[in-house]
Amino acid sequence: MSGIYHLTGNPFVDSGIAALCSLSKKDNPMELELSDLRRYARRLPSWFTRWKLGAFFGPNPKFSNPAIPKEDRKRHYAEYLNRRLEQIRPASNEGTCAACGSRDADVERVFREIHPLTGSGTFLNFFSFFEPGLPLCAACVLAIQFAPLYSMSRRGRLVLIHSHDMRLMVNVARLTVHQIQRLDARGGQLDFFTPRSYAARSDEEFLVKLVYEVILPRGRAYYPPPAIRMYVFRNSGQRNELGYIDLPTQAFHFLQEAYTGELNASLDELFKQSSLEIYQRLVTGRSIWWFFIDRRKRRVVGGSKLFELYVKVVEGMDPARLEAIRKVGKRLSRYLEKTGYKQLRDLEVADGYQQFLLELNRIQKDAVEKRIGPIVEIDDFTKLFPENQEGRVFWKETQNILLLYVYELMHKEKEVRS
Ligand SMILES: [Zn+2]
Repeated sequence: MSGIYHLTGNPFVDSGIAALCSLSKKDNPMELELSDLRRYARRLPSWFTRWKLGAFFGPNPKFSNPAIPKEDRKRHYAEYLNRRLEQIRPASNEGTCAACGSRDADVERVFREIHPLTGSGTFLNFFSFFEPGLPLCAACVLAIQFAPLYSMSRRGRLVLIHSHDMRLMVNVARLTVHQIQRLDARGGQLDFFTPRSYAARSDEEFLVKLVYEVILPRGRAYYPPPAIRMYVFRNSGQRNELGYIDLPTQAFHFLQEAYTGELNASLDELFKQSSLEIYQRLVTGRSIWWFFIDRRKRRVVGGSKLFELYVKVVEGMDPARLEAIRKVGKRLSRYLEKTGYKQLRDLEVADGYQQFLLELNRIQKDAVEKRIGPIVEIDDFTKLFPENQEGRVFWKETQNILLLYVYELMHKEKEVRS
């Protein structure tokens, strides 16, 4: 292994590495050199003495103790950083550092004012080994010092977006670091980045909107689609907390395909018309597909294109099955339109497979008699109503998706007429 940095899996270290990449205008952590670290470590004392960092480094870090004159704090912190810089060695294939595992943890054990939430003295908190402090190497200690530049603030807590896709992290870092540089140029107080382009009522909504309002519009698409873990934490002393939310790969894929497929307006409509539960379900990998169907108003929320994308990408529905349902849905729609939608209610209230099948057969017979043509062909049946090994028939989702196509065409007709 060459170079100083590579992805470690430790969210604080990786966040700092992403910030360093952005500062040094490099895309890949492997390209970071000691000269980059030296150059930007020199800026930290001046930045951090102008920044309320209590939520990140705890109440009394080296650089913000008001009892010590500012210039002294700057000097002490700069000396601390310089000592760490001198101890940096290239990564190898093994080591005792708890973060990177590629160098030995041969610097003094670090506590919560260096690595958040590692416990301090007898004060133990979210530290996985349940002992105070953390054995780290100098390179990881230094990386963590840059992590505040990557962190976002959300309602008094901090957010770290962590992913195995470094390109995504570097893209986020470009945004957050840019704000610090802008504030720095003005010479005033520095602050954590807060996304202003959207409002979020829950952490789950924050994560989903961050992806499709902030991350996806920046740069090329991500293939394979990455998974994201959003850490939400506070390391302030009195009120420590740490939690995380995952955005599964499929959910990211769905948001990305909607974005690149120009279905943004549809996605906006779906989110606007749905309750907060839709975000919780997206991040926990539970189904959201009935949010697309408003049975009461007989309408489709977000349109059938977005729905089809969702069931294919997230639910993994067989495209041949979806195609068969769409074809039958269109024929059904034409029949219902010609007969004044008299049987729509029967299809809607059918609450068993046999009953639904009976209604469909009735419509089929009538359609043939009225020379509207068949609604369902023999070949469609196995696709419409697949059975699992235990003999359970999947009919309910077919009923809903058929209704979805009927509602959509109903509304199109109305629009044409009005
Ligand atoms: Zn390390």
